[in-house]
Amino acid sequence: MAPQETQQDLTPKKLQSTYLNNLMNRLITRNPGEEEFHQAALEVLESLEAVIDRHPEFVNMGIIESLVEPERLIKFRVPWISDCGRVFVNRGYRVQFNGAIGPYKGGLRFHPSVNESIVKFLGFEQIFKNSLTGLPLGGGKGGADFDPKGKSEAEIMRFCQSFMTELSRHIGEDTDIPAGDIGVGVREVGYMFGQYKRLNNRFTGVITGKGLDYGGSLVRTQATGYGVCYFVEQMLAAGGRSLAGTTVVVSGSGNVAIYAAKKAQELGATVVALSDSGGYIYDKDGIDLDLIRQIKEVQRARISDYLNHRSSATYTENPHGIWTIPADIAIPCATQNELDAVAAAELVQNGCICVAEGANMPCTPSAIKIFQENGVLFAPGKAANAGGVATSGLEMSQNSLRYSWEYEKVDRKLKVIMQDIYQSASAAAKEYDAEGDLILGANIAGFMKVANAMLAQGAV
Ligand code: NDP
Repeated sequence: MAPQETQQDLTPKKLQSTYLNNLMNRLITRNPGEEEFHQAALEVLESLEAVIDRHPEFVNMGIIESLVEPERLIKFRVPWISDCGRVFVNRGYRVQFNGAIGPYKGGLRFHPSVNESIVKFLGFEQIFKNSLTGLPLGGGKGGADFDPKGKSEAEIMRFCQSFMTELSRHIGEDTDIPAGDIGVGVREVGYMFGQYKRLNNRFTGVITGKGLDYGGSLVRTQATGYGVCYFVEQMLAAGGRSLAGTTVVVSGSGNVAIYAAKKAQELGATVVALSDSGGYIYDKDGIDLDLIRQIKEVQRARISDYLNHRSSATYTENPHGIWTIPADIAIPCATQNELDAVAAAELVQNGCICVAEGANMPCTPSAIKIFQENGVLFAPGKAANAGGVATSGLEMSQNSLRYSWEYEKVDRKLKVIMQDIYQSASAAAKEYDAEGDLILGANIAGFMKVANAMLAQGAV
């Protein structure tokens, strides 16, 4: 978790509704120490204050109590053998949070920080995000506290196979369909898909983000990053602006960051900075993304290597410093709570007009408050980064049809989905007298569909 200020951010405020306040306090008591989960839940409960006034049936039927309690949390041992023959043991997780509108869907994260709080915050957010896509997808998430950094290809493969050996009992194309997230890309998805197939003797769309040769969808790799930019274009267009001619700072240099930067460049912006967990690079002439892809995707090296090829660039240790670079638009695409109040104040002072969350929950609550108070357009992750899961939904459709759609068709569908998400979040914000507040709008729009489905299905 990022800077000290975050701790203060996470102290729950008193919600106006006694019912929601009690519910939040109970959630904290029942999930002690799970700060990321508390943070994600509080943000949604704040948005639901107005909804429960209009919909007492959600309270009477315990819909919100059910919503904050995962349907199932699976926790398992993942033993694997290193190249030197030693056995290591990691912990794996899958949270099947809510299946009211479709099979559980959400990525797998391999990172040493993964614990119950992280998978629950991500799984909880995924419920609303998936609902916003308009596709029939429930919310889930998972991962392991395994650190892929410094591991050999063979070690990664053995870890993925061991992880899937247990996970395979709990998933299926109509039950739960995982995908990638931090530390899990097409390579890891391939190893896990292979192991699932071997254990079950079935070739089925049980995981998304697959390689194109064996059931993956065109545009899936690019979808989250591209989707963020399609969303930003919608937000800017409402004020008669666009990405063209703007200066953009993107944090991270993984899957989401690279393709957000690429689409921003294609739409006429200059992307001047990217980062990894070690530090950030600044290139005032615009980052060479082909070079970044070579360094990060092919060589799997550090972003500081960029300097070996570009003398115009600078590298600064400490990734948080990236937000001191003046930019019109900031797109945090690394990890949760990476952008705090100090960074937000700096961005505002430097004239930033728009912040879009490519990562999940990258901005702390007090950073968001600063953006809102200063009229900065703000796109919450559950709306702005939903393009990835939406395209995974499209991969599932293609797998069911045993067919693959061409690039333009998938990209067109992605663009329409991002436009629809923007429209439904904006409309819900307006309906609840908070025009322009896309956090509230996205939370309410995502919630209503799931809550109504839960209501219709009875107390299950
Ligand atoms: P990747 O593993 O591909 O990339 C993560 C990137 O973030 C790496 O460059 C990593 O650097 C960097 N990073 C990690 N921690 C920090 C830090 N503290 N400061 C700066 N950089 C950091 O992951 P993704 O791109 O897939 O995911 C990024 C975010 O987007 C996550 O929040 C994820 O949940 C979210 N997301 C991903 C989706 C997807 O389709 N992949 C869909 C929707 C959301 P290093 O290599 O040094 O670790």
